[in-house]
Amino acid sequence: LSRRANIAKPSQGGFSFYDEGDESRVLRRDQMTRAFIESLAQSRLNLVFQPIVSYSTGRVVACEALTRWEDSELGTVSPGEFIPIVEDNPMLCQEFTRWVLLRACQAARVWNDMLDEPVRVNVNISGTELYREGLIEDIDAALMSAGLAPEQLVIEVTEQALIQSIDRAVKTLEKLRSRGVMTALDDFGTGYSSLSYLRQLPLDTLKIDRSFIIDLATDCTAREVTRGIVNIGDALKINVVAEGVETEAQQAVLSDIGIEHMQGYLWHRPIACEALGEILTRANATIGGIRPDA
Ligand code: C2E
Ligand code: MG
Ligand code: MG
Ligand code: MG
Repeated sequence: LSRRANIAKPSQGGFSFYDEGDESRVLRRDQMTRAFIESLAQSRLNLVFQPIVSYSTGRVVACEALTRWEDSELGTVSPGEFIPIVEDNPMLCQEFTRWVLLRACQAARVWNDMLDEPVRVNVNISGTELYREGLIEDIDAALMSAGLAPEQLVIEVTEQALIQSIDRAVKTLEKLRSRGVMTALDDFGTGYSSLSYLRQLPLDTLKIDRSFIIDLATDCTAREVTRGIVNIGDALKINVVAEGVETEAQQAVLSDIGIEHMQGYLWHRPIACEALGEILTRANATIGGIRPDA
C-alpha cells in the first residue's frame, strides 16, 4: 500500500484513504480482539485490586478490581487500550463483564474468610453494559455464586456512560439499589453531567477524577472545585472518594477539605487478591490502621 496520507479525511468528503498508520491500527485492533477473546476463554486475564482507604483510621473500606492483560505476543496491554476494543464488541463485553464480576466477588469472599468485617469490592462496568438487559441477572449470579451480600459489591459507572440515556441509567441504578448493591460515579468531573442529573441518580459514591487531584497542591482553583464537589456530596448525601492520590501534599489538602476516603499510589498500588488479603488483615485488624508507605 502506498502512502496516501491525508489526501482526503473521511470527514471531508465521500472518499476515505487510509495511510499505513491507519492500516496498522486496524490490524492491531483485529489482532487484539482475537487475542483478547482467546485470553478470556483460557482464563489468562488477571484481576488486581487497589484499596480505598479511610484517611483518619487507615482502614481499607473497599478495593477496586482492575483488569490486567499480558498477552504472549502483544505483551502487556493497558486497560486504556483494550477496554475500548472490548466495548466495540457487545458479545465479548458481556462475557468480560461476567468474568470480572465473578472474579471480583470471589476475591471478596476470600477476604471475608480472613477478616472480621467485610470489605467492599468495586467493579468497573462499561457504559454499554449499563443498558444491557441481562446485566442485573449477571450481578445476581456473581453474588450468589460467591456467597456475597449485595451490600459488599459496588458497581462503578462513568459519567459518560450515564448521560447517554439518563432515564434508562436511572432504572438500572434503581434496580441495583433495590437489591442493596452499591453504586459509584467514576471519574467524576470529566463528563458533562449537570447537577440536576446528579440529583436524580441513586448513587452512593462520587469518585473525583485524578485530573483534579493532580493540581490540588499547587492550584487554588482545583482546590476550590474539589471543595465544591465535597459540598455537593454532602448536600446529596453521597460519599466522596478522591482517586489518584500520589503525594503527601495532595493528601493534606484533601483531608483539609474534608475528604475522608482516598485511593492512589501514595497508599497502595493495585495488587493480586492474595497479597491484598495480607494487607487487609494488617490494616483492618490493627487499631489505627496503616499509614502510607507503612
Ligand atoms: P478507573 O476505574 O478510573 O481506575 C483507576 C485507574 O487509575 C487505574 O488504572 C489505576 O491503576 C490508576 N491509578 C490508581 N491510583 C493511581 C495513582 O495514584 N496515580 C496514577 N497515575 N494512576 C492511578 P488502570 O488499571 O490502567 O485502568 C484504567 C481504566 O480502565 C479504569 O479507570 C477503568 O475505567 C478501566 N478499567 C480497568 N479495569 C476494568 C475492568 O475490569 N472493566 C472495565 N469496564 N473497565 C476497566
Ligand atoms: Mg473505577
Ligand atoms: Mg476512576
Ligand atoms: Mg479514571
